Amino acid sequence: MRGNPVIDNHEYTQEAEQAINVLLQSHNEKADIPGFEGPQLAIVTCMDFRINLRLPTNFAFVLRTGGANTLPIEPYLAFSVARTGIHAVAIIGHTDCAMQHPNPYVVEQLPASNEIKRDYRSQIASLAILDAPEYTRREARRLAERLGLPVIPLLYHVEDHKITRL
Ligand SMILES: [Zn+2]
Repeated sequence: MRGNPVIDNHEYTQEAEQAINVLLQSHNEKADIPGFEGPQLAIVTCMDFRINLRLPTNFAFVLRTGGANTLPIEPYLAFSVARTGIHAVAIIGHTDCAMQHPNPYVVEQLPASNEIKRDYRSQIASLAILDAPEYTRREARRLAERLGLPVIPLLYHVEDHKITRL
């Protein structure tokens, strides 16, 4: 049986807490945790090149998008979680995220046609996440309500590569 997620006070189900603790111990403390028989967690994080997660073997699905925006990958998330019986999701935003205030005009650098660059500009402008920690918290609440699972917001600090809870 899955417990009900308690969204606002950071008390999640026991399975969710265990999975987050494994993530933090493996990544932050480089703990050598034995591999798993099946996935324990689905992680959504940003595609930023500075994010390098250290995870145990067979521990987690990792889905990456700009700004850890879950909207474009939500069907994949729902499918993988349902198919494997994962009990929790982690969303990892990060410091200095370029999707907070993306400048759509950088696409002028592309050798693409003007029409295509216009499309990219409007798409990029609509993907701004503004404040990464606030956005990550909000997305976690939204997803928890939709999936019915605990969704834990975390923050990756690109300055020292540590992950903290939000
Ligand atoms: Zn980012």
